[in-house]
Amino acid sequence: MVGKQLFVSGLQLWQWRNTAMQAAVAVGVSPSEVDWLLQEVAGLDRLAIRLQSFKDWSQIQLQLPFAELKVLWQRRLDERLPVQYITGIAPWRKFNIVVSPAVLIPRPETECLIDLAVETVQEIGEYLQLDWGHWADLGTGSGAIALGLADAFPQATIHGVDRSTDALAIAQKNADNYGLAERIHFYHGSWWQPLDFLKGQFSGMVSNPPYIPSATLPTLQAEVIQHEPHMALDGGESGLNCIHHLINVSPTYLRPGGLWLIEMMAGQADMVKKLLETQGSYDNIQIYSDLAGIERFAVAQIKGEGVKS
Ligand code: GLN
Repeated sequence: MVGKQLFVSGLQLWQWRNTAMQAAVAVGVSPSEVDWLLQEVAGLDRLAIRLQSFKDWSQIQLQLPFAELKVLWQRRLDERLPVQYITGIAPWRKFNIVVSPAVLIPRPETECLIDLAVETVQEIGEYLQLDWGHWADLGTGSGAIALGLADAFPQATIHGVDRSTDALAIAQKNADNYGLAERIHFYHGSWWQPLDFLKGQFSGMVSNPPYIPSATLPTLQAEVIQHEPHMALDGGESGLNCIHHLINVSPTYLRPGGLWLIEMMAGQADMVKKLLETQGSYDNIQIYSDLAGIERFAVAQIKGEGVKS
């Protein structure tokens, strides 16, 4: 039976922090996760943690019962439950994205997709006013990319699609939390299919599709493979099933000059480039690396009259 105690003394929490950190180090989990967890669930600020001044506070309110926090932290260590599923939050760009095991935890490298969209619009698309009109986030999951796009392109309407209704509920919550619900519309379905009514009208498409080859899945970290949704990871035998589909179908949805941006896995860039070239509708095909130097993103533009190559 888990107790319901929401208040703890600073001393109790300080003692728990020390124990939790030691236990983390012993199993190779970063002890800094304990401090982030305390910021989120106990409302402690970084200074109070660094100076350990909270130790002297008589009472600290937690967002969940202390006993439950302890159980969840033990699951972090024993079952490799990602810490973001404990707090229900993942910081991403300027947002605190609500997450649950129904959605992939948004990754730092995926933040670059938004910067790439902005830079590409400025470099090769400004005269086409690509920052206006309709943008799609296909396989939106938590809605992180959709929020990023809505923020980066204040004149655009964003359309987020996912096959998981549980994911869409989370995505909607995130749009609501940031007052973006009027500018981001969510749809249940597969890739472009629910957006049929806007065929040929999209200024851009961004996606972080599942791209891990099925046979590689078991080799992923336990945090990922045992807790994150496989639907968001499994890219079929080659890992490229979804990317290939997006290459083939997007030209009928994007307008001439429209942008196509995806995230992919290390080692896929050459194949993705070749598939884009072979499809025949794309121009200005570019591969970009993430901050770790891995070729991680592909960007292309739909050919069209007046589109500069
Ligand atoms: N980047 C994720 C990972 O390494 C995979 C995300 C995806 O398949 N789109 O676990």
